[in-house]
Amino acid sequence: MGEFELIRRFFAAAPCAQAAAGVALGVGDDCALLQPAAGEQLAISTDTLVAGVHFPESCDPFLLGQRALAVSASDLAAMGATPLAFTLALTLPAADEAWLEGFARGLDRMARGCGLALAGGDTTRGPLCLTLTVFGRVPAGQALTRAGARPGDLLCVGGSLGDGAGALPLVLGTAQAPAQAADYLLARYWSPQPQLALGEWLRGRASAALDISDGLLADCGHISRASKVAVHIDRERLPLSAALLDLHGREAALQHALSGGDDYRLAFSLPPALLAELRAAWPEVTVIGRVEAGEGVHLLDAGGGELRPPSAGYQHF
Ligand code: ADP
Ligand code: MG
Repeated sequence: MGEFELIRRFFAAAPCAQAAAGVALGVGDDCALLQPAAGEQLAISTDTLVAGVHFPESCDPFLLGQRALAVSASDLAAMGATPLAFTLALTLPAADEAWLEGFARGLDRMARGCGLALAGGDTTRGPLCLTLTVFGRVPAGQALTRAGARPGDLLCVGGSLGDGAGALPLVLGTAQAPAQAADYLLARYWSPQPQLALGEWLRGRASAALDISDGLLADCGHISRASKVAVHIDRERLPLSAALLDLHGREAALQHALSGGDDYRLAFSLPPALLAELRAAWPEVTVIGRVEAGEGVHLLDAGGGELRPPSAGYQHF
């Protein structure tokens, strides 16, 4: 199977690569042409996943395809952008048909679930590595950035924290859990659901937002620096799933929630006047703290006393 046959069979012919709104020209030419509506901006994000660093080389290709795109789409959710299209740069050690079939199927499933059309890419030989670039559209000036949180705003998260990091021992096969807990945690790791609808709802409402990929403390540090505010987190309010608590116990679960990566939940600041509306529309969202004047991220115990934060999130360098 040559390079062009591979591209055609597994990617150009995939359902997610067919004609789509907002894509004037898709796979097959030197460039794709995207057509956001007048008055919209393009939101663009790129992520590279390296075998052995971001995922085990031997992992199930279907799950990898799903997860790779979910992680990228989560950045669109964090900006309040509506998914448009994506490109895939794929480096493969060999043209393994069974692997490609599984990978393309997982990718296609997540792409269609998110409303992302495959518009182009690149295919090369080498150590297994994926780079996905996602494109979204957002009304000009309305994207949710990390800057803009104001003292008095509530700090909220889109759902349970720590599941991604808590699932790692199951992913790596170094721990076991009862079937129900294992199923939940492995699903949270392998197919995190990008919070796209929540992100769109937050447009014009949240004062700052991001998705939690590096751990709550590290990511709130980004909001703190960009918005020039202090972020106060109430440790007792962190939402923890029953499966995470079962597998790890409360202390370790809290550590995963604070410092583990791979949650892909949105964290955002919201003026308190919008709390009732938020609760009605998004019951799964939890208020976990407040934005205050000052700087830095502060972790508080139940009495409001400051705790020493555990080590921050993952950094490659
Ligand atoms: P060029 O040589 O002009 O850069 P390529 O030969 O790399 O083009 O790719 C041919 C076409 O196939 C292009 O439209 C490109 O976007 C697309 N393509 C290549 N690899 C992939 C892939 N993995 N997924 C989707 N489209 C791809
Ligand atoms: Mg070309």
